[in-house]
Amino acid sequence: MNDESKLVDLHCHTTASDGQLTPTEIIRRAITNQVDVLAITDHDTVSGLREAHDFNRQQDNSIELINGIEISTCWHNHDIHIVGLNVDIEADELAQLQKRQRELRDIRAREIGRRLEKAGIESAYEGAKALAGDAALSRGHYARWLAHHGYAKDTPSVFKKFLSRGKTGYVPNNWQDMESAITLIHNVGGQAVLAHPSGYKFSAKWLKRLVREFKEAGGDAIEVVQGQQSIGDRSNLIALSNQNQLFASLGSDFHFPGGWLDLGKKLFQPPGVNWIWHSEGWNK
Ligand code: AMP
Ligand code: MN
Ligand code: MN
Ligand code: MN
Repeated sequence: MNDESKLVDLHCHTTASDGQLTPTEIIRRAITNQVDVLAITDHDTVSGLREAHDFNRQQDNSIELINGIEISTCWHNHDIHIVGLNVDIEADELAQLQKRQRELRDIRAREIGRRLEKAGIESAYEGAKALAGDAALSRGHYARWLAHHGYAKDTPSVFKKFLSRGKTGYVPNNWQDMESAITLIHNVGGQAVLAHPSGYKFSAKWLKRLVREFKEAGGDAIEVVQGQQSIGDRSNLIALSNQNQLFASLGSDFHFPGGWLDLGKKLFQPPGVNWIWHSEGWNK
């Protein structure tokens, strides 16, 4: 893939994790929004990709569809998300990872439910589980259920009040370390991308440290362009990627229609950036 005029979105979610569109609906929306290259990157699973490929095939492969995953990891006690792109969705090692993460998510989800119950909020676990269907529970499902039942005005407020670090419903994470996730992504043929680096709300010093340690752990790229972002953030991330000899990626992190961001929107490609799709290992 060489054409800079292509519309590329390398980060989004479906109902296989905490997104609200099915894999089929995501492909349909990508076509409507004129996305050329799309990676589906559900939390800790690739289970939406088969359906997405089936539907894309019925649409004459309109979309260049990349097999992706967003792995939850732990770095100095913080939840850090690592996107794997071009992973082999049939690989045993990936199947094992999905099984482990699912177990960790189940344990954590029950604990979140218990903590909320102690705080007087009943049936949150059952409610979130009903929203998740077959998918592993994410805090995103809890946030939707709590907002819908009036515990806060919207999902960001639910996070502030209940689900972020130190709050009633927060359970310290137990994810594998960042380096193991990067190694696993490489073992299954993929490239490892540090997701939404500005999203962790780190100080400049910690963000620099994160990017440096990500590179030292073998990481390939960092996301420098997101659907919602200040110009200052963007140029800082581009500088960090160049300083650390990392490739750059971009993605909307789309979860549902009607919000602030949309699939493939506001993802222009600024100059002076080494895009991940120019890397040697891309989609071989
Ligand atoms: P988990 O992977 O279960 O820890 O849940 C993380 C997910 O919760 C993210 O992928 C988002 O979908 C959602 N999320 C995290 N922080 C926020 C926030 N401040 N506001 C809204 N949704 C959030
Ligand atoms: Mn999510
Ligand atoms: Mn994420
Ligand atoms: Mn995401």
